Amino acid sequence: MKLIDGRKVSEEIYQSLKIEVDKIKSAGGKVPHLAAVLVGNNPASQTYVNAKVKACEQVGFGSTLVKLDESISEIELLAAIQKLNDNTEIDGFIVQLPLPKQINENKVTQAILPQKDVDGFHPTNLGRMVLNLPSYLPATPFGIVKLLEAYEIDTAGKHCVVIGRSHIVGSPMSILLARNSNPGNCTVTLCHSRTQNLSHYTQQADIIIVALGKPYFLKKEMIKEGVVVIDVGISRVESSSTKSGFKLAGDADFDDIAEKCSYITPVPGGVGPMTIASLMFNTLLANRKEIYKD
Ligand code: NAD
Repeated sequence: MKLIDGRKVSEEIYQSLKIEVDKIKSAGGKVPHLAAVLVGNNPASQTYVNAKVKACEQVGFGSTLVKLDESISEIELLAAIQKLNDNTEIDGFIVQLPLPKQINENKVTQAILPQKDVDGFHPTNLGRMVLNLPSYLPATPFGIVKLLEAYEIDTAGKHCVVIGRSHIVGSPMSILLARNSNPGNCTVTLCHSRTQNLSHYTQQADIIIVALGKPYFLKKEMIKEGVVVIDVGISRVESSSTKSGFKLAGDADFDDIAEKCSYITPVPGGVGPMTIASLMFNTLLANRKEIYKD
């Protein structure tokens, strides 16, 4: 079994981004600038946004944090987004999800200019991804593709089972791995909460991407020998071995399945660090106007 080290791969991405920033600076150009919109006081959202701002500092990007009150109206939020769309200093921005109940997330996603949508959630970017046209790829699936690439994991002709069909992870992941590209060219089965006899599919899989948000869900009797397991799940579970009384758990039962896997990502330290690294990478693409050249 080989451990897929997301921290190491993300660190390599950060190093290459730093080099790009130095080149831009010495040529007298404008360094990439990412903005993040945080609505309300959700602790998990605050943690994610802070990590994104910190990553900008680490690679030398500019960053702007727009903090808005939990009670903001949809109209006010859409106006704040319009300001970011119009601000030429900002290359790309994200609106941290989830949003308060009074706000329609779809409306917000669609209000972001596709050229600045570095999360890759806008229908234009998702549509371009499906058509294999240049687009911002959603950060978590993009990070997983980069991990498969970094570890030279053969995907062509392999059977990949994706568990979970969210718009941000499972669905785009299934499309990316089915595309005619490398990594890609998989035969993909997308499983979800209505899938019957899930083990029937997972037992045949060469690659399993597990993204359903249920800690320790994937067990050894569900997989075959030599499978590659990419664990996206992040849940906080109680633990007697940590000071805080909690630890992070993935959707795979690592201790139970690791021996049977050819490759496996740990939680934490697998997919998580890659998500932010991919967002940074997308911000560089936005700065260079690489996706939308027109
Ligand atoms: P979600 O919560 O939006 O959706 C869960 C999906 O799992 C649904 O499509 C549902 O159909 C499916 N599902 C639920 N129960 C199932 C079952 N018993 N069998 C098969 N499928 C089932 O998912 P999400 O936003 O993609 O998040 C999934 C997990 O990934 C969460 O733990 C989340 O915290 C984590 N996550 C991690 C990162 C990262 O950077 N590592 C990024 C995004 C999400």
